Amino acid sequence: MATQQHTGSGAYRCRDCDGDVTFDDQAWQCVDCGQAPRHGAD
Ligand SMILES: [Zn+2]
Repeated sequence: MATQQHTGSGAYRCRDCDGDVTFDDQAWQCVDCGQAPRHGAD
C-alpha cells in the first residue's frame, strides 16, 4: 500500500518559509516568498 503523505509532483520545499518550490521558467522559485534556492553546482 502506497502511503503518500507529503509528496507532490516532485515538489521541493523552501528553506525560508517552507513553502512550495516550483520549477518555473527554467528556475526554481518559491510560490510563497519567491525565494529561489540555488543549486550546489556553482
Ligand atoms: Zn519560500
